[in-house]
Amino acid sequence: MATADADRPLNFIQEIIEEDLRTGKWDGRVHTRFPPEPNGYLHIGHAKSICLNFGLGEQYNGKCTLRFDDTNPIKEEDEYVNSITEDIRWLGYDLEGRVLFASDYFEQMYDYAVQLIKAGKAYVCDLSAEETRQYRGTLTEPGKNSPYRDRSVDENLDLFDRMRKGEFPDGSRTLRAKVDMASPNLNMRDPVIYRILHAEHHRSGDAWCVYPMYDWAHGLEDSIEGITHSICTLEFENHRPLYDWFLDQLGVYHPQQIEFARLELNYTVMSKRKLLELVQEGHVSGWDDPRMPTLSGLRRRGYTPESIRNFCADIGVAKFNSVIDVVRLENAVRDDLNKRAPRVMGVLRPLKVVIENYPEDQTEELEAINNPEDPAAGTRKVPFGRVLYIERDDFLEEPPRKFFRLAPGREVRLRYAYFITCQDVVKDDNGDVVELRCTYDPATKGGDAPDGRKVKATLHWVSAAHALDAEVRLYDRLFTVENPGGAKDGTDYKDFLNPDSLEALTHCKLEPTLADASPGERFQFERQGYFCVDPDSTDAILVFNRTVSLKDTWAKIARRQKKSK
Ligand code: ATP
Ligand code: MG
Repeated sequence: MATADADRPLNFIQEIIEEDLRTGKWDGRVHTRFPPEPNGYLHIGHAKSICLNFGLGEQYNGKCTLRFDDTNPIKEEDEYVNSITEDIRWLGYDLEGRVLFASDYFEQMYDYAVQLIKAGKAYVCDLSAEETRQYRGTLTEPGKNSPYRDRSVDENLDLFDRMRKGEFPDGSRTLRAKVDMASPNLNMRDPVIYRILHAEHHRSGDAWCVYPMYDWAHGLEDSIEGITHSICTLEFENHRPLYDWFLDQLGVYHPQQIEFARLELNYTVMSKRKLLELVQEGHVSGWDDPRMPTLSGLRRRGYTPESIRNFCADIGVAKFNSVIDVVRLENAVRDDLNKRAPRVMGVLRPLKVVIENYPEDQTEELEAINNPEDPAAGTRKVPFGRVLYIERDDFLEEPPRKFFRLAPGREVRLRYAYFITCQDVVKDDNGDVVELRCTYDPATKGGDAPDGRKVKATLHWVSAAHALDAEVRLYDRLFTVENPGGAKDGTDYKDFLNPDSLEALTHCKLEPTLADASPGERFQFERQGYFCVDPDSTDAILVFNRTVSLKDTWAKIARRQKKSK
């Protein structure tokens, strides 16, 4: 039998599936589903569920369907349907034209409710929402039966029909399952299965004014579609008895619900309500802001689908909740881009360098390696001239002991070019260094000295005459604390928004080979990290997002802090 990854042991869901295949429980079928509610954009937590469900479908030659769980007309929109579909395709999963909508089953679900009423297992209840809550009881006290619980089947059928026909206002009546008001599981205390809501639905329009509740709808959707393994997150564990009860009462096809631990990431919020709030209140530029944990945000940031799939495979699937360090996500994209991103040179904070002994009108084309990790990527020519830009951080007038880069009188290597020595600095009226006067050694072309002398640093650079102007957006975490949503002291997650999460550098200089780069293309800027062209780019100026730095600088900072303690 196939396994997702020969190196990895089976997770507990794969074990269940393989046992089912062995015993022939589902006639050898595997059919999972991913059931998002179209009320927001997908985030990295959803990716875990997508990779799991579509991954199992692929692995066991089964099926996985995308089904929109669109049973709540209030918050659902086509914009979300479109973005979710696009994100799943982008992750690399084949939908094979099987995009389904729970709303297509409204009629069938209604018929099932009628069946439940006829079986004496559902009733129309006139308690208000508040009264229903009071009657429900608590974890330590049993609930009380609704005074409407013993209505006759005929009365219930009549009232439910009239609910559907729109005779009653919102909230005036519900249809409830007749289970057990004394059950220790609150979900079993006569749950509401239909509510009255005169609201326009994104697909069914105003055809309905009663809408099914999640617990009722979900199992029926799974049953109608012939799902075998209905995989959901742990908070639905105590809804499973109800899932089973409904399907058993109706005597219909009955999938198995299996719960797994949802993905939680530190320095991140993942609730759709909070993500929507960040968008609506303008804390970010939109759902696809590169700081957002949404798939559209990660895509714009430069994440590859492969890196996200690798991350999801790496974190695995378990039965207990845990928080994953966001560094593991960042490392996944580093590993992937290291293999495939072409290397280029780009100067983020330029400092002008004039090579005094380099001829005024000369330029040279120097050969640069496109990707040392991928010999097939070949080489390219980068122009070199008398005036260059280097990174401002690569020069210090008074270097401390461990600073090996450029300083007055010091010699360094320019990558793929020559050794240069700093002879002089030019300052402005404020005393800030605005230009370096250097000399180069023509014998060191390509970056090696024939006399074998060594330099301690290799700097990236860009020829001023050929440079492209660019804006580069550097990102830091959106939140300053590990668990922004989890504080119990009355603070709000928005209190922890990082004011420095975006730094836009607007005077960057890039090598001219980038002139034709188009939105979505990814590069490594040598020594600076991985970058992706942003759709904000225009003919006049390229805009890049930094996906990640080359190393996990946070780990370095943490180590330094530990050392100094
Ligand atoms: P809400 O309940 O607020 O609408 P949700 O994130 O549960 O938010 P859904 O659209 O219902 O939204 O989620 C679709 C699927 O994705 C569900 O099966 C859910 O279990 C799964 N899912 C959601 N968040 C995570 C997560 N953080 N980790 C793993 N799976 C998740
Ligand atoms: Mg949900």
